[in-house]
Amino acid sequence: MKRKPSGAIKLCPRCGSPDIHLSSSLDVWLTPEQYVCEKCGYKGPIVLEVDVEGEEGEDESGPPERSVR
Ligand SMILES: [Zn+2]
Repeated sequence: MKRKPSGAIKLCPRCGSPDIHLSSSLDVWLTPEQYVCEKCGYKGPIVLEVDVEGEEGEDESGPPERSVR
């Protein structure tokens, strides 16, 4: 087993912490997507998404998703 083939991780745009999650439930119809950072208390619809699918390894398994021009 290598790492999990997840697409992207979310980071807080203010402090860069990955400890951020979607604020769910009650306000969901007022504010479609609000993220809450546990570290700095940021709250807002914008998060940094960092793509982590490029692993530094020679793992050639799986279809190549990047299209090289
Ligand atoms: Zn933060």
